[in-house]
Amino acid sequence: MKIAITTTVPVEVIYAAGHVPVDLNNVFVSHPERERLVEEAELAGFPRSFCAWVKGIYGAAREMKDLGALVAVTQGDCSNTHGLMETLQSEGMEVIPFAYPYERDYGLLRAQMEAFMRRLGVGWSEVEGALRRLDRVRRRAHRLDELTWKEGLVTGMENHLVLVSCSDMEGDPEAFARKLDGLLVRAAERAKDRHFPRAGDMVRLGYLGVPPMAPELYDYLEALGARVVYNEVQRQFSLPFRTADLVEKYRRYSYPYSIFYRLRDIRRETRRRGLDGLIHYVQSFCFRQVEDIILRRSLSLPLLTLEMDRSSRLDARTRMRLENFVAMLRRRKCP
Ligand code: SF4
Repeated sequence: MKIAITTTVPVEVIYAAGHVPVDLNNVFVSHPERERLVEEAELAGFPRSFCAWVKGIYGAAREMKDLGALVAVTQGDCSNTHGLMETLQSEGMEVIPFAYPYERDYGLLRAQMEAFMRRLGVGWSEVEGALRRLDRVRRRAHRLDELTWKEGLVTGMENHLVLVSCSDMEGDPEAFARKLDGLLVRAAERAKDRHFPRAGDMVRLGYLGVPPMAPELYDYLEALGARVVYNEVQRQFSLPFRTADLVEKYRRYSYPYSIFYRLRDIRRETRRRGLDGLIHYVQSFCFRQVEDIILRRSLSLPLLTLEMDRSSRLDARTRMRLENFVAMLRRRKCP
């Protein structure tokens, strides 16, 4: 059975139960008719002044006729997705609730996982087996992330795609692992290619916030001589934590918890990766826009806030702002 997810949840439980997780964000953003999915949600009654991710996910869920159930994250995601779940539930979708406890309490998170496991009819031994299976794939993603910032052999777009796909492993962890192996081979070949642009020679950027509505942002930045070597939330989807304890892994995962916990990760990675500047992506009509205030107050690096709504293309104003930002960072880097 295919089980839809709208944000990262313990997919080990889904795989252990013999089901296939499908991240609807990835289905929507790679759909050839994305605009139509958003419009269909609006025709169904979603307001224009509502997050386009949620509308796209709704359109994608309605289009996929073979979804058996949907995991509803009732705490740790957002009230907009909460509304989406209830709408789909009212249309007959089976909904499985899951909540991340705000204060990262180990016992509460374990209780949530056990409720999730009971719902899907699996126990700890099967789930821990699934964790070992998925961690073998995640290790490849972590190596690719390292090759991005340490050796500059993986582009910002590739890094984004690899890490964002860790949420559901594209429904087939072994096939996904083979894909990552292919990219590892290409990165090794690039190491011998003098003409491949290395991140070390470019303006080094960090990307904060939810994944972009327009992934062409990465290639546009590369054309300007800048590379994203830190994709904050996408990297979190790959659970880059050294622990074999499933509960602890999802307790360390920063995205569903407070901005102050996320900031610890952002500060550490900003230093470790030698970043020159940060882009904070905010989605129109998303409550997370307010987090921009805290990020600006808490981080010392130059930060560009980029807001997008539904378009999959960068508009002229956004391109110009990116150009000016990269030029300013280059002057700071090489006065
Ligand atoms: S972008 Fe914001 S409003 Fe939209 S689904 Fe994500 S958290 Fe919710």
